[in-house]
Amino acid sequence: MRILLGDSEIRDGVRRLGREIQAFYGQKPLTIVGVMTGSVMFLADLLRELAMPLRVGVIQARSYRDGRAGKLVINADFMPHIAGRDVLIVDDIFDTGQTLFELTDQIDHLQPKSVRLAVLLTKKGRKRVGMEPDHVGFDIPNEFVVGYGLDYRDAYRHLPYVAILEEPDRIAAERLAEEAEQRGTTDQESAAAAKRE
Ligand code: 5GP
Ligand code: MG
Repeated sequence: MRILLGDSEIRDGVRRLGREIQAFYGQKPLTIVGVMTGSVMFLADLLRELAMPLRVGVIQARSYRDGRAGKLVINADFMPHIAGRDVLIVDDIFDTGQTLFELTDQIDHLQPKSVRLAVLLTKKGRKRVGMEPDHVGFDIPNEFVVGYGLDYRDAYRHLPYVAILEEPDRIAAERLAEEAEQRGTTDQESAAAAKRE
């Protein structure tokens, strides 16, 4: 694992973003929509930097990239009402931008007063959509990163820093994921066996 952004650098960046967002909205009420699960740490830290009247909700967005052009599936069960409100979407990373482009489009249909986008990270030269995040923490090189909310196969989200995933980390995470899958299968098998008895 190679640390790209240490925890104090992240803290300074999030504080700067907080000031930027506060300066933009002033004391106008704001509705924050955090995109789970990658934004979990960034969301929690950013919220503490804001002093306007705030409502907070979360949304889950998953893209299935199984050959078809990534179909975005959104779970909005935990999202507050946003019609007529100023909304700030908060996410971990804007890579090609496809996910946040589609998400913003779907949120637009709910008729908020305005929608802006804050992300912790963007990747240099990767943008493939006609939209940019309004508030950006850090512009990073085109490497796969984990930590501070970002995962590889569900591992490494809890790290307090952002690091470049290296081969041994990838192998370790894959081993954990395989073990978990096998456990899942054996759990299912034993549940099925218990039913038959
Ligand atoms: P986009 O649609 O912008 O290409 O991709 C966005 C999604 O891809 C992110 O929300 C994130 O889930 C995933 N992603 C892109 N780059 C990285 C990365 O470097 N690390 C991790 N952990 N996820 C990434
Ligand atoms: Mg994400």
